[in-house]
Amino acid sequence: SSFEYRTVQRLYQGLCSSDRASLAESITLVESGNSTKKHMGQTLLQSVMSQMKSSPRESNLTKFFEENVTEKKDTRTELRTMRIGITGPPGAGKSTFIENFGIYLTKKLGLKVAVLAVDPSSNRTGGSLLGDKTRMSQLSVEPMAYVRPSPSQGELGGVARNTMEALLLCEGAGYDVMIIETVGVGQSEVAVADMTDMFVLLIPPAGGDELQGLKRGIIENCDFVLVNKADGDLLPAARKIQTEYTSALKFIPRKHEEWRTRVRRVSSLNGDGIDDLWLLMIDFYSALLASGKFESMRMQQRKIWMWHHIHSDILQRFKKNLSVTEKLHSLTKLVENGDVTPGVASDILLDNFFNKN
Ligand code: GDP
Repeated sequence: SSFEYRTVQRLYQGLCSSDRASLAESITLVESGNSTKKHMGQTLLQSVMSQMKSSPRESNLTKFFEENVTEKKDTRTELRTMRIGITGPPGAGKSTFIENFGIYLTKKLGLKVAVLAVDPSSNRTGGSLLGDKTRMSQLSVEPMAYVRPSPSQGELGGVARNTMEALLLCEGAGYDVMIIETVGVGQSEVAVADMTDMFVLLIPPAGGDELQGLKRGIIENCDFVLVNKADGDLLPAARKIQTEYTSALKFIPRKHEEWRTRVRRVSSLNGDGIDDLWLLMIDFYSALLASGKFESMRMQQRKIWMWHHIHSDILQRFKKNLSVTEKLHSLTKLVENGDVTPGVASDILLDNFFNKN
């Protein structure tokens, strides 16, 4: 309708002029379960993507990169945005770190920062694993930053997909660095790794058997391990953990040929190590840009997200389909009682679904 058309136009203009209220409203659209709104969200995203592709804007990040990366000649793509994933167990200091790092990027470097979260809240308890939002109180009020409270509704696939779309909208609104936070729990990390260029594991300097506790998969998948709270009384423990991780990483295959995973100490409380970390991050990007890996990774990720959409949309349509629902109940009973095999039941339902579509 013309109302919908005008809304999309208005939001598009708002995004182009980096208006925060328009960004928030646009993200709400792509998160919506309502099909009209969802459609509006997709139309908006398509315009944003086309615009960014045809005439990308000059950003402070592009400038920073050109000035600071000497072997610029070799880089095949310009760096326009950074997508950084951060994971770690509850209490590691993720929100404190993001707040400190975010303030560094905005205030010191003049970069625009967006913070999003994938919160795999348990549907059973309804509790939020990322904690409730008195978080990042300084960064939240910083004009160069946008901190989106985490969506915690619905299944992980849906939440993660919305986060990917929110990320694209933030880029459309001119943000330079996107930080996506999640807790170290199962599938949420895979989803975050699938939407970011760089994956950071943040750990506290506690306990001896940390390495056993953390899933090896996470370590294999990260580009940086940050031992947080490397300050005061915790400094010796932080050094010890750093050494342990550094030696453990020698036996773990590289994620990228171009990059050896670095283990660094930081203090999110007093900012120690943040400067060095940023320079290393720039090295990471230069290496991946120079080899072409950066671009191929983003291409691959776009494809992955298309398949996530296909998976979840098919399932949704399947569950709403009449010829499925009318047989579903009785077939489920037959399967439960062992009268029909799960595979046969699935075949019958799928045949019904696809033949009547
Ligand atoms: P999250 O659950 O991973 O987001 O962790 P929080 O950011 O909420 O931090 C958990 C606790 O660790 C809080 O009490 C923080 O003040 C504290 N903390 C975070 N970073 C540091 C740090 O660098 N040094 C010290 N000493 N404490 C920290």
